[in-house]
Amino acid sequence: MALLTDDNAVLVQIVGAVLERSEQDMKDVLVVVDMQKDFINGALGTKEAEAIVDYVVETIKSFDGEVIFTRDTHAQNYLETQEGKNLPVLHCIKGTDGWQLDKKLECLKTDAMKIFDKPTFGCMALAEYLKAQEGLECVTLIGLCTDICVISNALLIKAALPEIEIRVIEKCCAGVTPQSHKNALEAMKMCQVKII
Ligand SMILES: [Zn+2]
Repeated sequence: MALLTDDNAVLVQIVGAVLERSEQDMKDVLVVVDMQKDFINGALGTKEAEAIVDYVVETIKSFDGEVIFTRDTHAQNYLETQEGKNLPVLHCIKGTDGWQLDKKLECLKTDAMKIFDKPTFGCMALAEYLKAQEGLECVTLIGLCTDICVISNALLIKAALPEIEIRVIEKCCAGVTPQSHKNALEAMKMCQVKII
């Protein structure tokens, strides 16, 4: 190989710096879906949901990127809504204890972390926020419930950002039942969501 001239050497340095910079600008996002008391040990809690809390905490702590939370958020008229007619169990009523994030997650939350309060399963505002991010490389989802709000948001984000890799961490999710959790993972896999 021919020796680099001084000019070429400078060019190589510049290209290297630009590449390094663009790598730093690439952004990963972790979406923590509905890790609220009512879904863990409250009105709609399950032992499977309780069992994922520590994995979720570890994943947030070790994540290198932006962490975003969503909260299922209903008003007092919940039972009159479409969701309430299909699932007549009061849960995540704004301001109640059950609506709050689990204590272990609340401790991890910083002011810099965004929270999206969403009135239904999928969160349009979250998809729009992600769509507006430059250099987004990958969106990872974890939380509850695999078969309702995780799958809804994974597919919504997939629709908004078809060229972004969407991942779901299996052991950081739980469903309404273990079977519906598995079914949802299969459905997401078929829709090219990476299950890890
Ligand atoms: Zn709900």
